[in-house]
Amino acid sequence: MSSSNENSVPSSRTWNAMKKGIDVFKRGTRWSLGQDSNLRFWYDSWTSNGPLKSIIHGPLTKEKEEIKVMPYSHFANAEDRIIWNATANGNFNLNYAYILANGEAPQFFNGKWIWKLKVLPRIQSFIWMCIHNSIATRERLASRGLQVDTVCSMCNLHPETIIHLLRDCHVAAKC
Ligand SMILES: [Zn+2]
Repeated sequence: MSSSNENSVPSSRTWNAMKKGIDVFKRGTRWSLGQDSNLRFWYDSWTSNGPLKSIIHGPLTKEKEEIKVMPYSHFANAEDRIIWNATANGNFNLNYAYILANGEAPQFFNGKWIWKLKVLPRIQSFIWMCIHNSIATRERLASRGLQVDTVCSMCNLHPETIIHLLRDCHVAAKC
């Protein structure tokens, strides 16, 4: 396969399935920023809307072209990683992949409603962090490579996850 045009290569069921899979992958994923992100601000797909350069028109100066993306969370991964665009936690979701494969536009996660709530900004930030699994629970810290006991510090019975602390922990519920 020396051709650079993927539409001109011989057609087979396997190849057609691979082409469709690549398309679903491209449309369904984006980069999640790492602490030492090396992503290009304008050209890499790190928002759910694709590369910013595809949205914003006009020339960029050489200086602006070389701007890198900076992570906004202390809990960002060490390295940039590819995540599934349609879910709040970034995990793959077969239903959305099926919708994309059928040429439909899936409803990507939209947290704009959080910023319309009539509550204190720190409550809005807390909800946003919960939805994005960014609260430093023991399980989350362990998943980032820290050597911590993952058992809930309140009840000592179950893994300390956000949903456990906020909904399921019988000790936390009494606080
Ligand atoms: Zn507990």
